[in-house]
Amino acid sequence: MRSAFLRILPVLLCADHALSWGDMGHRAIAYLSQQYMTPEAIRLFDTIIKPDEKFDISDAAVWADRNKGGIYAYTYNWHFIDARDVVPTHCDVKLNRDCDFRGECAKHKEPGCVVSAIVNQLSDFTAFTTDSANSSDCPSNLNPDAKQKQIAMKFLFHLVGDIHQPLHVEDLGAGGNQICVKWNGKTANAHEYYTSNPSDDHSDRFHSCSVTPLKDDDQCPPWEKCKNLHQVWDSLMIEKLLKWDPPSPDDDPKERKEKARALRWAGDLSSDGAGNPPLAPSDCVPVGRQAQACALKWASESNNLICSFVLRDGVAAVKGHELNGTYYNGAVPIIKRQISRAARRLAAMMNAIAAVHTDEEDGQQVLQDL
Ligand SMILES: [Zn+2]
Repeated sequence: MRSAFLRILPVLLCADHALSWGDMGHRAIAYLSQQYMTPEAIRLFDTIIKPDEKFDISDAAVWADRNKGGIYAYTYNWHFIDARDVVPTHCDVKLNRDCDFRGECAKHKEPGCVVSAIVNQLSDFTAFTTDSANSSDCPSNLNPDAKQKQIAMKFLFHLVGDIHQPLHVEDLGAGGNQICVKWNGKTANAHEYYTSNPSDDHSDRFHSCSVTPLKDDDQCPPWEKCKNLHQVWDSLMIEKLLKWDPPSPDDDPKERKEKARALRWAGDLSSDGAGNPPLAPSDCVPVGRQAQACALKWASESNNLICSFVLRDGVAAVKGHELNGTYYNGAVPIIKRQISRAARRLAAMMNAIAAVHTDEEDGQQVLQDL
């Protein structure tokens, strides 16, 4: 079932976006969420995803970024929402203004954004029936209904991470992709960044049709593969925080090292009281009648971080500047808090859904309470 608010007029402009949080962040969110999931929620995950030694809960969380092309090209816009606000003076997210598709730049892509995608995938997922989940023990033999629920769950595990990355809730400079910065004194991307992220296609990220173009003198030269603000937030600061030097795919063929490091970070975060505070009792989870309102609340919270920290002094304050210093130090608590919030909220969402599956009456009560 699709929400009506998606069906709005296209615009003729577009922006490009890369991965959010990188694989390390998404994997850590998934591992950390396990600690807050009820046995019923974990059982539900196992029933639908059928994880094995090659595909664990963190693989479910990175699956959507590996499937942005081909038959899933229509999901491209699901990973972000382009808040066309006035940074840094006034940050806000408006669904009617920001949740659309890029017209000419996304002819084959479905309209929508991360907010509508979460709502729609939840709707698909909660339409799940126990019979379809139990139709087969073999993922490749799942009936079409069970397959759809499996895909919906993988998207949910990923998109809850995306919506907590501030630059996935901002339009300016294509979510920071067009804002060139310095990292460790370097302005150009190392070759290995591209080859170690084969699914992360940056080739068109300097596309000229940005919805909110930067001023001419703020633009990166279109031919330069510069280090950019989005990349700093999705991976470089996390790599520094974890002292993580991504191995080449040949050296980590099944991403064992990456998973092990993410699991260790999730463990560190779970015992870090300051970096991983409990959710407020009033926190809401986008299930049932509040789905859209809660997803929008999460998006607005992330977007507010653009004005309060990420670009608080405007583009000129970061463009061409070294971010591995004072900026990094200020960002670390934000990164930890957003990763932790995403994990706790993902778990709360799964727990609510599982309660409905386990006990119709109690489940409805859980949904109403959220
Ligand atoms: Zn994504």
